[in-house]
Amino acid sequence: MRGHVEDEMLLDVLEGTAGEEARQHAAACASCAGRVEDARLGLEWAREAEVPEPSPLYWDAFRRNVGQRLEAGRRWRPAVWVPAMAAAGLAVAIAWLPSLGRGPQVTPAPLLPAWSALPPAEQDEALDVMAAAAPVEDLGSVAECGSLSGCLSELSEEETVALANALRSELGESDS
Ligand SMILES: [Zn+2]
Repeated sequence: MRGHVEDEMLLDVLEGTAGEEARQHAAACASCAGRVEDARLGLEWAREAEVPEPSPLYWDAFRRNVGQRLEAGRRWRPAVWVPAMAAAGLAVAIAWLPSLGRGPQVTPAPLLPAWSALPPAEQDEALDVMAAAAPVEDLGSVAECGSLSGCLSELSEEETVALANALRSELGESDS
């Protein structure tokens, strides 16, 4: 034999199936004898480390689990959940930004006054018109409903038409 026992031959030497030459070399060479011993120990540890076969119940659960994951994967494609996760992360980041600021807290922009479709009462000429048009006995109901808009919303169709006519005539008189 020209050299030491090759790695692929170590198990053959160990099991006694190697050629005569290799077995004689391994018996005479301390280095190769050590490698054969290492191979024997490795084989022993591998046998001890063998995992017992799981019970059939395990495989039932395993199949169910895989099925559920596949089903979930079908619903949650990466194309869907990646942007969703990114958006969630962005929302969290935005929520954390103020607490991360080292300097003074950012002062919030001054709040704009609440938008209203109606002009302020002192600038609303229609209020005077409506007050003039409203019969005196209706003032009690204005107090009941609390606000002009609340009262208007409670008017019947007939009352609304009457009010509109009254407003029209009042405005027409003021225009002339
Ligand atoms: Zn050797």
